[in-house]
Order: sequence, then C-alpha cells, then structure tokens
Amino acid sequence: MKKILLLFITMLMFSQFCLADELRLDKDAPYQKKLMEIGFRILNANRVDKRITFYYKNDQDVNAKILSRSKKVYIYKGLIPFIDNDDEFAAIIAHEIAHGIELHEGLARRIAMKLRPIKYEQKADQTAVDLLVNSGYNPLGLIIILNKISGEPCFASSRSNGTKRLANIYEYIYKKYPAYLVYNDYKKNIYYQNFLLTSKPERAKIRQKYQQNKLLQVNKKEPK
Ligand SMILES: [Zn+2]
Repeated sequence: MKKILLLFITMLMFSQFCLADELRLDKDAPYQKKLMEIGFRILNANRVDKRITFYYKNDQDVNAKILSRSKKVYIYKGLIPFIDNDDEFAAIIAHEIAHGIELHEGLARRIAMKLRPIKYEQKADQTAVDLLVNSGYNPLGLIIILNKISGEPCFASSRSNGTKRLANIYEYIYKKYPAYLVYNDYKKNIYYQNFLLTSKPERAKIRQKYQQNKLLQVNKKEPK
C-alpha cells in the first residue's frame, strides 16, 4: 500500500512539473517569437550571410550573450522588465549579432576578442548602431536600454564604466547619424532624459571636438 501511495505521489509531482513547464512555455512563447522576428529582420536587412540563431532563456539574470562556437544568441528572461519597446529589444539583439559577425571572422579574431574585451565591446556597440539604422530601428534605443541596465555586472565593466560606454555610442551617432539626435521621438522618454542629464560634460566634449574639426575643414577650404 505504501508503495502504491509513493508511486501516486511521485506521479502527481511529475504531472505538476509537466504542467508548470507547459505554462512557462506558454508565457515565454511570445518572447521567443518576438526575438526571432527582430533578430532575423536585422540579419536580412543588413545582408548578414552567416548563420546566427536566437533563443529566449528562462533565467532571471539580467543578461544576453552569444555562444562563440554555435553562434546562438541567448536573451535572458531577467532582461524583459527593462525593455519597453522594439527599438530597445532590437538594440540588445543587434549588439549580440555584432559579436556574432566578429566571431565568424575565425579563431584569430576570437582570441583578439578575449584579449581586448573592452575594444570589442565598443566595436559591437558601434556595429549595433549601424545594424539598427539599416533595419529601421532607432539607434537611441541602445543608449536608453544600456542607461537602464548599466549597473548590472554583465554590462558594466571595471575599466569601462557606463558613462564612458554610453558617451562612446552617443559620439558614434553624433558623427554618423546626427538626424536621430535632432528629430528624435525619445525627447520625452524619461530614460533618455536621464541619460542627457547624466552625460552633460561628455556630450559637451563631443560637440566641441566636432565643432573644432568643422572649423579646421572650413579653414582648409578658404583661399590662402
Ligand atoms: Zn557585448
């Protein structure tokens, strides 16, 4: 009798686990679909002819990563509460795709990426901006999402703090896609406003740098 009872309890536990798994799958399926939709849109719009695949990971960590061998992009569940729209979701995905493009360059590049992580993080942020613009997303989404999660260990690096990283992205947009800074939908976004508030000295330096460059160019054009 005891054995039968034990078997019954075991079966009950097992069935509950199965049910819980199904429910989780139900809840996660829309994120998996959204992730693939945005991921493949970015790949196609940018004519990335390397295979990269996308997986939503049921993990509470605030993280995203790409596996160097299989080129599988993982977006963690813990990131979801921080994402407010497609631009921000696309920004995280585009950053991982940018790493994926580097990883496809072969072993030597993979070693370089390990040796100089900050350089390649910066490069991935810049490539992500290009990928986003080419696929119709607002690249300011990258600044906004990183501004929200820059305190997370997976995104903050001891040598490159959030402020420096965000200023680097801002400078790249300023240089290459200035229209997004002039006519942007994000001026009323509280997280973008917070970035503007916390990056005043860095943005002033960037403006000064490019204004000086422009002056030099104007001087060159002037007759001697
Ligand atoms: Zn990265």
